[in-house]
Amino acid sequence: MQAPNTSVTSLATPAPAAIEIISLTKRYAQGKPAVDSINLRIASGSYCCLLGPSGCGKSTTLRMIAGHESVTSGDILLENRNITDLPAAERGTAMMFQSFALFPHLSALDNVAFSLKMKGVDKAKRQAAAKDLLERVAMGHLAERKPAELSGGQQQRVALARALITQPRVLLLDEPLSALDPFLRIQMRAELRRWQKELGLTFIHVTHSQEEAMALADTMVVMNHGLIEQVGPPHEVYNRPNSEFVARFMGGHNVIDTPAGKIGVRTDHMLVTPAAEAAADGPHNMPAVVTDVEYQGTYVLLGLQKPGKAQTASSTAEFSVMVSEAQFGARPYQVGEPVQLSWAPTAAHSLTTLTKAMAASPAAAMA
Ligand code: ADP
Ligand code: MG
Repeated sequence: MQAPNTSVTSLATPAPAAIEIISLTKRYAQGKPAVDSINLRIASGSYCCLLGPSGCGKSTTLRMIAGHESVTSGDILLENRNITDLPAAERGTAMMFQSFALFPHLSALDNVAFSLKMKGVDKAKRQAAAKDLLERVAMGHLAERKPAELSGGQQQRVALARALITQPRVLLLDEPLSALDPFLRIQMRAELRRWQKELGLTFIHVTHSQEEAMALADTMVVMNHGLIEQVGPPHEVYNRPNSEFVARFMGGHNVIDTPAGKIGVRTDHMLVTPAAEAAADGPHNMPAVVTDVEYQGTYVLLGLQKPGKAQTASSTAEFSVMVSEAQFGARPYQVGEPVQLSWAPTAAHSLTTLTKAMAASPAAAMA
């Protein structure tokens, strides 16, 4: 281990590092593993979001990278160094927790200096290092305040400084914004993104919110049942979901059964035509009945079903189409009205079902 007294005197930002995960598996008990032989490469200096529903294995993956959870099999490399079996403190990673978890009885300065105190760094040195970091996150003037005397944004900066004092090359964040109210959450995520760019470090951020992941990530990793379903930049994952799961989880898509297999079409890329004006049946259209009309401000969201299905009060729409306010104004639709839905062939993306073989191949997972 590095001697702490020498490592804290220089607070130059450490070089960011790439993370590589190879056939990583975590099995807590008999049955399906929590993380099932995943492969992933996270570029150095990038903002990566692990995204998926509750229980899909995001936190387990992050904790294995942090060294807070043992691996069942597989390897974790940090800049080509195998860290799989290293203690957490020797990996070059640091963790920032949900709602920042600051010590309420300690000042901002002492919160930031805490891990150096645990390492036995003397008081003058650790306070100088903590002060330096607080300056860097524009909190130097509030160093003596307790967490309760700081705003949510200021607390987040203290938490960031506290994580950075160990000079990590990769910062790990597990749902850091989920305990905040919606307004603060949007402010804080913009700040996280800004700090990541300024510090130039690799961030790996776990979230169950597709909106949060899209706002933050350079690379989004969509997980489901311990497997990686898709990896890519947000616009690519949103526009070209490769599975029914990703299309439904990301939202904003219709999943349509066609003779050639399931396809995904964005709700704003589908056209609706009154049944009386419909084109002949073809591979890029289908009949439907309007079941809901929701005014949303700039657009109207139509809910629709295939014709002939029993309409009950509890039946939910199978399809959604966004119609601009102007279009809807020119030709409104009524609940119960028969229509034709159509889409351009280029707007349709075929949705495959993820197989274990694909998930196990790094090439397929990263394509
Ligand atoms: P996520 O963070 O995506 O919500 P987790 O990684 O926490 O999911 O959990 C993945 C799966 O592993 C879940 O089924 C969860 O119940 C299980 N799990 C997580 N931690 C433990 C543990 N310490 N012991 C046993 N099972 C666990
Ligand atoms: Mg979790």
